[in-house]
Amino acid sequence: MKEFEKNIRKVVPYVPGEQPKIRNIIKLNTNENPYPPSNLVKKAIENFDSDTLKYYPDPTMEKIVAKLADYHKVSKDMVFVGVGSDDVLAMAFMTFFNSQKPLLFPDITYSFYDVWAELFKIYYKRIPLDEEFKIKKEDYYIENGGIIFPNPNAPTGVFESLDTIRNILDNNKDVVVIIDEAYVDFAKESALSLIDEYDNLLVVRTFSKSRSLAGLRLGYAIGNPLLIKYLNDVKYSFNSYTLNALSMEMAAASIDDEEYFKETIKKVINTRENAKKTLSELGFEFADSQSNFIFAKHKSFSASIIFEKLKKNNIFVRYFNKERIDNYLRISIGTDEEMDKFFECLKKIINELD
Ligand code: PMP
Repeated sequence: MKEFEKNIRKVVPYVPGEQPKIRNIIKLNTNENPYPPSNLVKKAIENFDSDTLKYYPDPTMEKIVAKLADYHKVSKDMVFVGVGSDDVLAMAFMTFFNSQKPLLFPDITYSFYDVWAELFKIYYKRIPLDEEFKIKKEDYYIENGGIIFPNPNAPTGVFESLDTIRNILDNNKDVVVIIDEAYVDFAKESALSLIDEYDNLLVVRTFSKSRSLAGLRLGYAIGNPLLIKYLNDVKYSFNSYTLNALSMEMAAASIDDEEYFKETIKKVINTRENAKKTLSELGFEFADSQSNFIFAKHKSFSASIIFEKLKKNNIFVRYFNKERIDNYLRISIGTDEEMDKFFECLKKIINELD
């Protein structure tokens, strides 16, 4: 180790899912939408005037903020936009949880939460989920600090009802509560309906999953204008969390195509429900997913072996080599055709192992 390295802060980074360079694979590993973005997005790219790239993009992202506000029927000062919801979340951690008091989140959840907490030196506590990966709401009580969890949760896909969220909010009025709704479009209901009632609630969303725009990088938060003001104060201190001009046009076009958006969601949900049946027939057990992925474990065979065998066949799912979940595979929902090929291969693997 070099002498100067001793003075460098050591960080344990987030390990992202694999993004293979080859395209002739079945990619069920990072919860993207298997369907392409709306045709209106394609048109927005074609119509984009590249001469305008000589200017900096609008730092207030007015066009997107206004469209999102209109879409969600909230005022513009309740919307905060960032480069992917990861950036919005990281910003929210910096803004709201920079405290010595604990930030609470589930023990099985989006693994970026620990990474940011460590990075920003935020004291945190992981709260165990129950046997069915559900949140025990009575364990969420804190007078100073904060609360965050995804709904549906990741990587389990388990959805918590609005009653649970309301209960947690009622018990924690003095801290910021963040509900990370990356996958909520595949579930029943959103905590956005509570936003006018609870001024300490921040709901975070993304265009990466239901809108088929993971490559675009757009995330946003909706909350009381006061929370959004605090977020903006931190954002403008960095001047780096602004979408580029072309992305803003593409995002606006996506919002304009509600019909296509609804259609792809319906297809994914349908495929998910069929996949649950096939997984059961093949001897898998799984938490009841309300998301665009299923977190499943086989009754007899190890997840790591199945993962490797699928990979050899150019089928990528996600395997987390972590305590308590190392018997599980997280399978993103692909098109029906992709899922047929996946199940064909999975059946062969299971038969060979039997
Ligand atoms: N929250 C959760 C729970 C996620 O699984 C992801 C995707 N990995 C994100 C946030 C971040 O998504 P993005 O940055 O693409 O908006």
